Amino acid sequence: MIRVASVEAIPIAFRLIEGYRIAGHSYASADTIILKIDTTDGRSGFGCAAPAAEVTGETAAASLEALEDRLIPLLRASDAADPAGFARRAREAAPRQPAARAAADMALYDLAGRRARLPLVRLLGMKRDRLPTSITLGIDEPRSTLERARRHVAAGFRILKVKVGDDRERDLQTIRLLRDALGPGVLLRADGNQGYSEEAARRFLGDLRKADLELLEQPTPAADLQALRRLADEFELPIMADESVKDAADAERLAATRASDLVNIKLMKSGGIGESFEIARLSLAVGIGAMIGCMDESRIGIAAALHFALATPGVERADLDGHLDIADDVARGGVRIEGGDILPLLDADGLGVVVSL
Ligand SMILES: [Mg+2]
Repeated sequence: MIRVASVEAIPIAFRLIEGYRIAGHSYASADTIILKIDTTDGRSGFGCAAPAAEVTGETAAASLEALEDRLIPLLRASDAADPAGFARRAREAAPRQPAARAAADMALYDLAGRRARLPLVRLLGMKRDRLPTSITLGIDEPRSTLERARRHVAAGFRILKVKVGDDRERDLQTIRLLRDALGPGVLLRADGNQGYSEEAARRFLGDLRKADLELLEQPTPAADLQALRRLADEFELPIMADESVKDAADAERLAATRASDLVNIKLMKSGGIGESFEIARLSLAVGIGAMIGCMDESRIGIAAALHFALATPGVERADLDGHLDIADDVARGGVRIEGGDILPLLDADGLGVVVSL
């Protein structure tokens, strides 16, 4: 048994390099809680919580409260070498604060990797060593979006994720402009963030040309799985569930109704690596493919998400760009981006992050 010697939870509101807008929300900063766990064998592991009420269902205050009042006491009483056992008890202690649980979970996995002197992905069983990642374009005027898109393509990104779900006509205009200007080497995916009604989504999908998009994420409200299923049935373009699927119970419902073609897995929604693995397993069993996604997160969370994804069958897409938005991250390393691919640091232990607090 490895004992926890001390735990620190540090709330930080990171500055975003550039604020942005999605359907229903604007972001100017990223509320984060950095977690540091020290064990009695002299090691430290790091995690982060990136709560957002509209996605993870918890505010930053609720996330911090769950850590301080429930999860940190639980960590102190737990075997730090048993992340799966901790995750089970954490789910009972803080069922509605998955981002807080994810912070503790990734810190325990970081420690496990450091103890084994292996990058976490090697400990979990590496299936791939990289994934192409998209980079996100917030809602803006089509011309400004194209300008940003060109900068990302010049930096090597080959997949752009366009936020839509706000004004259907402008959304279409933006996608057509990007599609025609950027050429066939750039893939476009779109994310509606629940912004369309079912009928608006139907019209949007009907107006798209065949090669416009790779997929459409969460066009309609999260709770209405049947609307998602009807759109997935009616249109050839793959529909991805994001806000509709937070944890394995949601994934089971999605799989039972075959409500989408794809699912977006985020550690912050599911509460950690074990639960995320379960979502991928349940989805893959019925032919639903998975993408690993993120919030605006420190490199700590992005690295954890990447190590999980590279070790998990069925996770063939990545949208891991959250750390690129943050101006004042406390972590360095963790991941690197090369020609639009995101890679873990295979010469470093655990998550491979260096954190200055
Ligand atoms: Mg999304």
